[in-house]
Amino acid sequence: SKATLIEKADKNQTTFQDIAGLDEAQMEVKEVIEFLKSPDTFTRLGAKIPKGVILVGPPGTGKTLLAKAVAGEAKVPFFSISGSEFVEMFVGVGASRVRDLFRQAKEKAPCIIFIDEIDSIGQSRGRNSLYAGSNDERESTLNQLLTEMDGFETNSGVIVMAATNRAELLDPALLRPGRFDRHIYLELPNMKERQEIFKVHLRPLKIDESVDVNFLAAQTPGFSGADIANACNEAALVAARRNKEKIDRQDFMDALDRIIAGSEKKSKIISPQE
Ligand code: ATP
Repeated sequence: SKATLIEKADKNQTTFQDIAGLDEAQMEVKEVIEFLKSPDTFTRLGAKIPKGVILVGPPGTGKTLLAKAVAGEAKVPFFSISGSEFVEMFVGVGASRVRDLFRQAKEKAPCIIFIDEIDSIGQSRGRNSLYAGSNDERESTLNQLLTEMDGFETNSGVIVMAATNRAELLDPALLRPGRFDRHIYLELPNMKERQEIFKVHLRPLKIDESVDVNFLAAQTPGFSGADIANACNEAALVAARRNKEKIDRQDFMDALDRIIAGSEKKSKIISPQE
């Protein structure tokens, strides 16, 4: 149903407080927040506010989180849709969903439209597609998106943010001026950034003094923000099962062991195809 496809987060409380380790990306989206909060400051000089921003980065690096925080900081509605949700649709349905989404958003402007996994509809046309659905459907959805991006007025107050893991696959038509012409890159966190992300996710938990964020960050090279959030929750589950009052270092070590062993098993299963 439409309700599941287009999620409107009226009670979106996400702010920059929920993000760590993305200083540069945060700086870059601050401008978008200013546009949403006081468009007049820009338009009185004749400036055109950008319509589209693409967030590029590996899975779990906080693309969705950052887009939500932009809406939360600007206190505007957040409409989201995932490109992969179009995969199963019949021809014409994807395009009409896109139309609906933009119509609803324009009524609620200023606001953010977030399109996750845009590569699943926005892959280069003519390329042998990884996309599971029919090519016609993907193209008609993509064309509708381009039409909407061109059709809504600059300065209408709708800013479209889209996320992808693989910018190189995107149809160049999406990246033309007046469409998604801003790119923001998110990377996997380094050691210092992992410490900061751990701090965010330890904040709501009952943590024993034996837990040290420097140690946790050192134990988790290659972890994304999402992996760190997951590790904190796993440690809490381990401690709860052990009936502890607080989550201690041993609980974290056991949780990390399990996560790392699990992901090694997964990569062993995948590796013969590489
Ligand atoms: P995907 O490409 O898989 O959709 P994504 O880049 O959109 O991933 P998110 O969905 O934003 O990643 O991240 C998932 C969760 O991981 C967030 O809700 C948050 O709890 C945690 N997380 C990710 N990055 C960060 C970060 N930089 N700071 C704090 N928490 C983070």
